[in-house]
Amino acid sequence: MIVVLGGGITGLAAAGILVEAGAECVVLERETEAGGHCRSLSAGRYTFDRSGHFLHSSDAAVLDWVLRIPGIAWREVSRDARVWLRGRLTPYPFQANLKGHDPAFVRRCLADFAAERIREATGGAGPDGDFAAWLLARFGKEMCRSFFFPYNRKMWRTPLEQMGTGWTGWSVPVPQFEELLAGARGQTREGMGYNATFRYPRRGGIGALPRGLSRSLGNRVRTSADVVRVDLRRKAVQTSDGREIFFRVAISTIPLPELAGRCEGLPSAARQASRALKWVKVLAVNLGVSGPGRTPGQWIYVPERSYPFFRVGILSNVDRSSAPEGSASIFAEKTFRPGVSVRRNAETAAAVRGLQRMGILRRGSVVEERRPVILDPGYVVFDRFREKAVALLTKEFRRRGVILAGRYGAWDYYGMERSMADGLRAAREAATAEG
Ligand SMILES: Cc1cc2nc3c(=O)[nH]c(=O)nc-3n(C[C@H](O)[C@H](O)[C@H](O)COP(=O)(O)OP(=O)(O)OC[C@H]3O[C@@H](n4cnc5c(N)ncnc54)[C@H](O)[C@@H]3O)c2cc1C
Repeated sequence: MIVVLGGGITGLAAAGILVEAGAECVVLERETEAGGHCRSLSAGRYTFDRSGHFLHSSDAAVLDWVLRIPGIAWREVSRDARVWLRGRLTPYPFQANLKGHDPAFVRRCLADFAAERIREATGGAGPDGDFAAWLLARFGKEMCRSFFFPYNRKMWRTPLEQMGTGWTGWSVPVPQFEELLAGARGQTREGMGYNATFRYPRRGGIGALPRGLSRSLGNRVRTSADVVRVDLRRKAVQTSDGREIFFRVAISTIPLPELAGRCEGLPSAARQASRALKWVKVLAVNLGVSGPGRTPGQWIYVPERSYPFFRVGILSNVDRSSAPEGSASIFAEKTFRPGVSVRRNAETAAAVRGLQRMGILRRGSVVEERRPVILDPGYVVFDRFREKAVALLTKEFRRRGVILAGRYGAWDYYGMERSMADGLRAAREAATAEG
């Protein structure tokens, strides 16, 4: 029996492959339905996701596998992301679309960017060091001061000097100087970056994805089954209803610190490593708004501290069916450190005020639905302890028959595609180990 801990898209994808391979498996999911962060919810006439969940792809083979999951009709959508800064809405990425900002500001951005290129050409590339140094060396002072530093501080809630850079390659596009100049002239550089197009289900929100993945699994998915204890010596998993399941191989997609905390038989060095893992949780304030006017863009990066959120999304600009005609399905995202208690009503009211100041909610807009949801963990923090700690934990768990997979199981910055790909990898490994 292969036991899969957690029924988000990673666990479901893994179980699908195990079933195909003829392996016996069970998925244990704490909530009353599978899907994890990729569940959608309906409220009145609106559909919400747990914040924006758009399928970005970088691996043709995995995308092909995803597109063949039965029962989901996908649409390919061109990205229309924006940046809200200094009272202006400009295309994303900010660094490659400076046109529209005050000319003196644009000149400072260009000059500081050029100074870094000159430094590189004359002194060689400096050491990447921490995340703050990495940003400064790539973009120069002005763009860091006005955009990259405040945005990233708001998102990570961690001093950028304590963060590493291993994860930045795909998510922070660095333009060439010519591209920067073109963007400053107004030759829009929207296609730049990791996600120029993405896929989204035609119906049912992103929740259509876990529903599709679950379809072939039947009662192999056990919901309301909180994994409360994993005994690594006896190779037994205990759930909150008192049941015990024995395994030769398990796949864990539940958050790595949580898994370590619920394990018996983990060496103390590994347990200690798990305590070093850092993350932030995300509050996504979902709002169903009638008469909001029309704001362009699908999601908007908001770096300034005077706004409570770091990103705002307009789901109805991606999927018209998520809100009635003349209305919008909107989300605003804010991060918190894990131990902080979130005052949902106060945060929702603050988000509404921020959206009013941005002009997304206007006079006559009526907030018909409010659905704040928390994603915990939301983002793994890449500080200088993470890599070593994760390597140790991966090795120690693997030795004891537990394969770690997915964004939170493997403790990484995986989007949906990478998470599912990791689930597939783990399933193949588990099927081989099970024999
Ligand atoms: C704010 C935000 C925005 C995002 N936007 C995008 C996007 O636009 N595009 C994209 O590709 N990706 C996006 N992602 C990433 C995406 O959410 C993840 O890649 C994906 O959800 C990972 O799936 P998972 O199954 O590994 O984890 P999860 O979805 O977290 O699933 C883990 C499951 O384990 C269950 N579980 C936890 N503990 C236990 C326990 N003790 N016992 C039993 N079950 C347990 C949970 O209930 C959950 O169902 C975003 C993430 C966040 C936080």
